[in-house]
Amino acid sequence: MVAKGIAGLSARVKDQLIQRSLERRLQQTGAESGRAATPRKSEDGATVPESFYRFALHPGYQQLRIMHEGGARLGVANPFFKQHQGHVGATTMIDGRAFINYGSYNYLGMAGDPAVTGAAKAAIDRYGTTVSASRLVSGERPIHREFERALADLYGVDDAITFVSGHATNVTTIGYLFGPRDLVIHDALIHNSTLQGVQLSGARRLSFAHNDWAALDRMLSEQRSSYERVLIVLEGVYSMDGDYPDLPRFVEVKRRHHAFLMVDEAHSLGVMGANGLGIREHFSLAGSDVDIWMGTLSKALAGCGGYIAGESALVEHLKFMAPGFLYSVGMPPPMAAASLAALQVMRSEPQRVRALQQRGAYFLERAKAAGVDTGLSVGLAVIPALTGGSLRAAKLSEALFERGINVQPILYPAVPEKSARLRFFLTCAHTEAQIDQTIICLSEELARL
Ligand code: PMP
Repeated sequence: MVAKGIAGLSARVKDQLIQRSLERRLQQTGAESGRAATPRKSEDGATVPESFYRFALHPGYQQLRIMHEGGARLGVANPFFKQHQGHVGATTMIDGRAFINYGSYNYLGMAGDPAVTGAAKAAIDRYGTTVSASRLVSGERPIHREFERALADLYGVDDAITFVSGHATNVTTIGYLFGPRDLVIHDALIHNSTLQGVQLSGARRLSFAHNDWAALDRMLSEQRSSYERVLIVLEGVYSMDGDYPDLPRFVEVKRRHHAFLMVDEAHSLGVMGANGLGIREHFSLAGSDVDIWMGTLSKALAGCGGYIAGESALVEHLKFMAPGFLYSVGMPPPMAAASLAALQVMRSEPQRVRALQQRGAYFLERAKAAGVDTGLSVGLAVIPALTGGSLRAAKLSEALFERGINVQPILYPAVPEKSARLRFFLTCAHTEAQIDQTIICLSEELARL
């Protein structure tokens, strides 16, 4: 199953499951290979345990097997890797059955929109499906620069650079720009891609309590002088909880402590601000108030990839030096064209953004009225329903699926066990009737569990 039916089990039962699974794997792998599952002597005579050279015995894989087995024992279906048979938005088709869908980041309904798919098809006809190498050495296409200019204009900053993955954008940007003499200090709920970037950089990593700019201020008062560069990382809308930081406060703190501020707009671009221009528009800030604007193309912009927008010295530097750009292929032209078209539609049709914001607020209001624990969510596209445990979350997701509603459970270790939840992603195309039906099913199934 699930990353976590096991979390609901006692330590003793978990240990038994681990032991049994390990024994079974040892027997299987030994039998399959015809070798005994005992430590072997390597050529230089040292004893090397099998778990050091067999993937089947990797501890992470063992843990995964145990989760699957624990889930199966508890009778919970695997909620992952469902196959969707067409465009995925407010509705979807899985195994020939229609569902109301809350499992995609298609916030503005642009994935599958004819303006977006048409732009991608035209770019394929003109440029093909790939640029076949790094843009630096092999050259770029006009669509790359056109898209990056549009992103820079959106933020009111000098320039922007696009990468082929949103996750890799954070990893390579933070990983390249910061080093062992530096400090990266981030919100406690920051996304994994930032954590991976910090790990790569070798910088010291600290976190402050969620959205607590005063705690950040205190920590910087104590720590700032011990480091060269300091980077503060926030998200525009937090992807698990659906709330946002008081950005002007953070800007003021970063200025006083001479730190850099980075905002990951994966879930706020297209979602916040009257025109969907993100948290900057929401708070009427200048582009230059934040040093590194980061975002992904996979959500509101109906594509795949990530971007960094900011001053020329930042963008030019990354273009020549960031390994994830320099040593990686350029964005496929149809992806750049799709996300550019989505950006243009977003700017010319702000009613999509308004509809998304209305549906989010409506969902939140109805859920709260039905007694659902929506945690910190402010009703902007991401709305959790906290269940108090992974097993309950997995069962609730399964029960809703049976009733024609697709919503993913978020289980330990993605969140702490007691914060396990269902996570509803709203799109501008959800209707009030769909939301009403969902809240009725959700509260009935919660009561049943
Ligand atoms: N940042 C945040 C806050 C995210 O939620 C995600 C993924 N959902 C990413 C970065 C990585 O983006 P992508 O999935 O487009 O690689």
